[in-house]
Amino acid sequence: MKFLKQKPKLCRNKVSEMAEKLRFRDPDLAKRVAEKIHDVAPKEGTVKICHVCGTHEWTITHFGIRSLLPTNVEVIAGPGCPVCIVPASEIDEAVKLALKGVVVTCFGDVLRVPGSKMSLLDAKAEGADVRIVYSVSDAVRMAEKEVNRQFAFFAIGFETTAPSTAVEILNKPPENLSFLVSHRVIPPAMKILVEMENLNLNGFIAPGHVSTIIGLKPYELFPKTYGMSTIVAGFEPLDILFSVYMILKQLKDGESRLENEYTRAVRREGNTRAQQLMQKVFDLVDGNWRGLGLIPSSKFTLNKGYSEYDAHLKHGVKVEQGVDIPHGCRCHLVIIGKIKPTECPLFMKTCTPQKPVGACMVSVEGTCRIWAKNIRF
Ligand code: SF4
Repeated sequence: MKFLKQKPKLCRNKVSEMAEKLRFRDPDLAKRVAEKIHDVAPKEGTVKICHVCGTHEWTITHFGIRSLLPTNVEVIAGPGCPVCIVPASEIDEAVKLALKGVVVTCFGDVLRVPGSKMSLLDAKAEGADVRIVYSVSDAVRMAEKEVNRQFAFFAIGFETTAPSTAVEILNKPPENLSFLVSHRVIPPAMKILVEMENLNLNGFIAPGHVSTIIGLKPYELFPKTYGMSTIVAGFEPLDILFSVYMILKQLKDGESRLENEYTRAVRREGNTRAQQLMQKVFDLVDGNWRGLGLIPSSKFTLNKGYSEYDAHLKHGVKVEQGVDIPHGCRCHLVIIGKIKPTECPLFMKTCTPQKPVGACMVSVEGTCRIWAKNIRF
């Protein structure tokens, strides 16, 4: 009986989820917002808005949002793909672990990301045991089942995925599981972009998923210190259009403020429980980002209390320097929105989703892959 009662509730949730989605994909409303955007956009000069989220790039490209904007309003993709920015040195560490006989568990997207000499997929082809998992809990379950083998979880992702790694570590995972922590935090990368010479940004669309965890506070410095309009936005086409309108309106009014367009999911304080979990387990240190180099206080590392789970210490696989950008690849420029994927000479020639050369073509959140899959050339 309980099952029968639950079923319609699940269906209703799905229906309301779909209705919510369609509401934010209403073409008539989108057209009206686009008209408003044209009204408030400056008639002279250019406006450059940067987002830092792979899902934002997917929405913008898939729904052709750029074609609705005035020609002098550009939306560029920043380093918002969590897979693309993992530096080669950290892929090399995972490969080293795998070749040493440790079972490396990772998300599927990471498998083909190039290291300095090989990817985890190449290591697998050489006989290493590399397994795809859908969550860190899968890695825990595998390690519990095979107690005589050593396991490592390659923990990548931004503030959105870091809390689930923290939870498993706090739950005392089995002794034969260690963690190669490669989590990064977004606001320091945004700071690098705004300070970058010749990028000349006018506004940020801040990532909705990350903001559900960190809230609004970490973005306050952008309008306050740099005069950058910053809008936290959701992932539907209308979310993007609204956020572009909000930035242009601020520019027109001579203001720069932090605003939350994604109020249906993001609270000012964020998810304080998730923040506490991350604080318990991780320290923030300087970290390398593929294509961007060292960014101060941008990487999570296990703090002293949990060093027993650190795969570096346990298996001695530290790699200081790697080759981030393969010959001819322009990922370092695509990652900061300096060039479009189509401006890379390898795009859809030697570099394709089937045979990626650079990291931006590997992940579903990578700008090159999104363009390759969603635009007809
Ligand atoms: Fe790198 Fe390929 Fe993108 Fe060129 S098209 S920047 S080689 S990922």
